[in-house]
Amino acid sequence: MKDKKESFTRNLTPLQLMELDACTQCGECLRHCPVQEVTGRPSISTPEKIRVFREFIKATGGLKARFLNPKVIDRKILEDFTKAVFECTTCGACGQKCAVGIFTQRLWPYLRKEMFDRGLVDYEILTNMPEAIKKTGNPYNFPVEERFKPWFPEQVKVAEKSEIAYYAGCSGVYGAKPMVRGDVLVLDAIGDPFTMLTEDEEVCCGFPLFISGQHDMLEDLTKRLVEAYKAKGTKVLVCSCPCCVNIMSRDWPAFYGKELPFRIRHMTQHVSAALKQRKIMVKKELKERIIYHDPCYLSRGVGVIEEPREVLKAIPGIELLEFDRHGSESRCCGAGGAVRKVFNENAIAIGRLAIDEAVAKKADKLILSCPACYGKVNEAMQDHDKKIPIVDVMELFAQYVERVEP
Ligand code: SF4
Ligand code: SF4
Repeated sequence: MKDKKESFTRNLTPLQLMELDACTQCGECLRHCPVQEVTGRPSISTPEKIRVFREFIKATGGLKARFLNPKVIDRKILEDFTKAVFECTTCGACGQKCAVGIFTQRLWPYLRKEMFDRGLVDYEILTNMPEAIKKTGNPYNFPVEERFKPWFPEQVKVAEKSEIAYYAGCSGVYGAKPMVRGDVLVLDAIGDPFTMLTEDEEVCCGFPLFISGQHDMLEDLTKRLVEAYKAKGTKVLVCSCPCCVNIMSRDWPAFYGKELPFRIRHMTQHVSAALKQRKIMVKKELKERIIYHDPCYLSRGVGVIEEPREVLKAIPGIELLEFDRHGSESRCCGAGGAVRKVFNENAIAIGRLAIDEAVAKKADKLILSCPACYGKVNEAMQDHDKKIPIVDVMELFAQYVERVEP
């Protein structure tokens, strides 16, 4: 634990400090918060969290505090704030709507880091993660030898080295097997050789540690993965988990210390490009109304909005419906921020909002593109009175795709 007397500003960039100052408490963002929607509690609201954190800064590092003695902040206030900043799913919807452009999806992990550094976080699911990753390579502590079992399609050949590499990711391999199986089947249909790391080498991308404010291992994890892909001659790293894509493209260069030697691509970007290059096609029809849910870290996070729709619309007969809030305005599925197990009740309630809207719009299927959404929305449907088949975009596409022989 770092010195508790240290300033509350130490983990923030000058821009983030300006953002904290810039919040006018206008409340414009309130209507868009999924956690507020299901809990109705103002303490977790964005302006309230920002107001309280500003108070922490003022009490410990403000002008008065510097001339007189810095105040000791009441433990209960610190604990309440910690809970509020962890109850947030980090979906970023508040930032998307913020009147002064505060990039909240980026701000929350650093406020969480501050509370972690002060020893205020005791959610075991989160605090056990570093040890689990050290031992098994994944934050869930699942056996390393089961990483690629039993979902990996036997008939698919993986190249020893290749310019294209596929990173399956912990949440997919252990919690959304049809999704990663679909990815691999579609990569195989495209026909370009692709490589993968072994089950020992493919460790966590670091996202759960980053988002929960535990940053100590991130440099090591990033360097291990980047060097391993570099040794395989990788030029394009493809993965389907939005959180992996997010940290890889946004943060890995900083943790690696320089530009990555390869590009990061979401699976739907890769497949959309293959469709345009006529490497694959779809002839078989699917006469269904489907609705696609944009994952926060894919749409708001890295701007991948059109490509999943292009892939789905490539299947003839499909009628693509939209949620009222879609694209960069998407409503969180409830699973974000690495706290879906800590605040399970909220996550289930938010997940059910997606199910309810999909059912109300008379969709035949609810299509997802994120392993966290996949696991949580499926869980939210258990014991729910509304039912709809939940399918990952590549799980569906793999059943229809055909290779175009040169
Ligand atoms: S990031 Fe999402 S869950 Fe967190 S406060 Fe903003 S809108 Fe609410
Ligand atoms: S919209 Fe922006 S400025 Fe207004 S209360 Fe929310 S975070 Fe603060």
